[in-house]
Amino acid sequence: MDLKQLGWNSFFEGHFNDAARKGSIAARVICEQKQLYTIGTRFGELEARVSGRLMHTASSRADFPAVGDWVAVMPRLEERKATVHSILPRRSKFCRKVASVRTEEQVVAANVDTVFLVSGLGNNFNLRRIERYLTLAWDSGARPVILLNKADLCPDVEAAVLGVESVAPGVPVHAVSALERTGLEGITGHLGEGETGAVLGSSGVGKSTLINSLVGRGILETGEVRSADGKGRHVTTKRQLVMIPSGGMMIDTPGMRELQLWAEEESLQGSFEDIEELAGTCRFRDCSHQAEPGCAIREAIERGEIDESRYRSYLKLQKEIMLLSIRKEQRARLKETRFKEIAKWIKQRKKLDPKRWD
Ligand code: GDP
Ligand code: ZN
Repeated sequence: MDLKQLGWNSFFEGHFNDAARKGSIAARVICEQKQLYTIGTRFGELEARVSGRLMHTASSRADFPAVGDWVAVMPRLEERKATVHSILPRRSKFCRKVASVRTEEQVVAANVDTVFLVSGLGNNFNLRRIERYLTLAWDSGARPVILLNKADLCPDVEAAVLGVESVAPGVPVHAVSALERTGLEGITGHLGEGETGAVLGSSGVGKSTLINSLVGRGILETGEVRSADGKGRHVTTKRQLVMIPSGGMMIDTPGMRELQLWAEEESLQGSFEDIEELAGTCRFRDCSHQAEPGCAIREAIERGEIDESRYRSYLKLQKEIMLLSIRKEQRARLKETRFKEIAKWIKQRKKLDPKRWD
């Protein structure tokens, strides 16, 4: 396996020397499943787990390796296994907020050079959604490229491309058809040797079909097959970083797919604009829109201007957003108290043994 083809370059090389210990080698994470990793090395693919030390020093899930990461590993070639000791700095990362016990970030894809934002030119074409995905892309550190798929269904592709270019100045926009395999050079042109891409877009826009056409065989189930169980399993192989024959790689992890759902939730928030506007006219500034007098939202429901069920989902979403920010705040405060405790401890030690702490 050629590390350069896997994306190894002088940036990672420079950081490897700091991270590596004697006998360790560089590897890229190809697949992750329940903290069992498939990694690519110059000795081929190995199966890896993280070291106990990495496990213990990790302060959040973002400190664990993710698909696309470059890692320093100690190989055990006779077993085809390895132990991950450290993660090299990430040039870009896509994160997902995990809001289970506490709010933390989980990296769902790392070291993506180019992220392809896919929209369908069929009926779900939506400039505001493209803007939202662009924000996600800029945040990640990857370079965005916009793909307008299903060009075969669109009577005026040129107008659509111009429309999108107007909301995304400086971002390349390409019309493609994954089905008819036209315009694919709009993708391959951005994926030179060793470069990593990822696709982002709502479900049904043709992301799996696109990757399949690039790879030239059906490695991912597309909508038709998938709808049988609604899950989107990977069929012939579970790898999440796939090589493209014309050069480069594509990352497609389940986490990236959840990121797509997450972006859709954001759009839900956008669709409550009318309710938000009304909320600004309630009598009390901190109105919870449940029982307060002078609540503009309840009044609008009574007049039949707002649907009761839309109001319920608005409240639900508001609660979720609030919970998320409370958890974030608690976590920040906890960190601060811990820091103060450590400072106090050091001060006491200094008193007891001043020489040692000079
Ligand atoms: P994903 O959810 O984004 O991965 O979407 P899929 O790849 O599963 O595709 C969803 C549906 O769109 C499938 O029925 C595909 O056959 C269809 N599709 C994908 N690409 C194209 C295209 O370029 N043109 C047309 N007409 N249909 C497409
Ligand atoms: Zn109110």
